Amino acid sequence: MGGQEKSKRLFETASRYIPGGVNSPVRAFGSIGSCPRFIQKADKALLWDEDGNTYIDMIGSWGPMILGHNHPEILEQVTDACQRGLSYGAATAAEVEMAKLVCELVPSVEMVRMVNSGTEAVMSAIRTARGYTGRDKIIKFTGCYHGHSDGLLVKAGSGVMTAGVPDSLGVPKGCTGDTLSAVYNDLDSVKEHFERCGEEIAAIIVEPVAANMGVVPPKPGFLEGLQKICDEFGALLIFDEVITGFRLGIDGAQGYFGIRPDLTTFGKIIGAGMPVGAYGGRREIMEVVAPLGGVYQAGTLSGNPIAMAAGLAQLSILKEHPDYYQKLNQDADDFYEKIKKTVKEYGFNYTVNHIGSLGCLYFTEQEVMDYESAKTSDTAAFAAYCNHMLKQGIYLAPAQFEAMFVSMAHTGEQLDQVLEAMAGYFSGRC
Ligand SMILES: *Cc1c(COP(=O)(O)O)cnc(C)c1O
Repeated sequence: MGGQEKSKRLFETASRYIPGGVNSPVRAFGSIGSCPRFIQKADKALLWDEDGNTYIDMIGSWGPMILGHNHPEILEQVTDACQRGLSYGAATAAEVEMAKLVCELVPSVEMVRMVNSGTEAVMSAIRTARGYTGRDKIIKFTGCYHGHSDGLLVKAGSGVMTAGVPDSLGVPKGCTGDTLSAVYNDLDSVKEHFERCGEEIAAIIVEPVAANMGVVPPKPGFLEGLQKICDEFGALLIFDEVITGFRLGIDGAQGYFGIRPDLTTFGKIIGAGMPVGAYGGRREIMEVVAPLGGVYQAGTLSGNPIAMAAGLAQLSILKEHPDYYQKLNQDADDFYEKIKKTVKEYGFNYTVNHIGSLGCLYFTEQEVMDYESAKTSDTAAFAAYCNHMLKQGIYLAPAQFEAMFVSMAHTGEQLDQVLEAMAGYFSGRC
């Protein structure tokens, strides 16, 4: 076990050549006042950094590694695909197999298009919804993340009735003017928009379990209510299942809650760690996508053979083992309930939200059901906790509003180690 010398040196060099030293802001560790750990290798539920420190990995590449790192069957399929060339820019059998499998696993999806990231999947699904309905406006929920395309970089205006104001420099106001913000778990905030301009709304996009403001499950009736409003006004319901797809179960959140959205977006698990996204849904809607219809969407590397090999291998294993989900969800349920108990034992009545393998310990005593309540968390306390956990060899997302991802590779002993490290932190705080 070393210190952080190599990581620190790498970060110095990285900061000279890469904005902020990282290729995605969530990796920066800035919000916990620390330096990114540069990862050298991973196996099952473990990570090793460049300084030789070992960590129990509670991120799993932000979701994709549901089977853990280095699954032998996946590696074999990928290695085999590599030997036949890295990309052709032409149709392949693997793409057909992938499309067929996704449609079989997720019944609301009758046709699917592969892309290279979750961002691309959502951006394309929204274009498709607009093309199909001939309408421009969309509704998104404050605190839900749908990738970094221009029109979706909107948290909220000052109130639910305001049209979107961009969250990022470089996004013209014109790009977010058709993005309406609503409050998660609050159907009335959605109805207000529809009462005002229901005939102009193409779609509602929602994370069926919000997992980018910690973890916020939908209240009973919320998703059903969205579907009802959409049906009433001829708008489409888009489930962004980039995190929940193939995670809550093989048929995602829509299977879990028994809802049939019009369109669905995938990412993360579908690529098993390779850069993959996908969007799909009802046949008549997907038929507006080029070259069949007038909605243009393309990708030089889309359906890449190596990426397809990895994704197909992972999805096939998951399909063959429904028992894996049962065990994962049960183990995770026990784990998150134990977190609640541990924290309470030391006198902290903090909120722990969880569903399936996704969970979040919020440093607040308030019930967390939307962005406003999530924001009541004490992020300074979270930072101290997170640094403690890293020192104890537990790799958590370095930000309060991220989920923890239990994988099928975590052992009971490893989850107990995580709990022990937590207990160590909270016992010291009393
Ligand atoms: C991660 C994520 C995205 C964006 O996916 P990228 O592959 O990072 O572009 C979109 N939607 C949700 C719900 C996500 O969690």
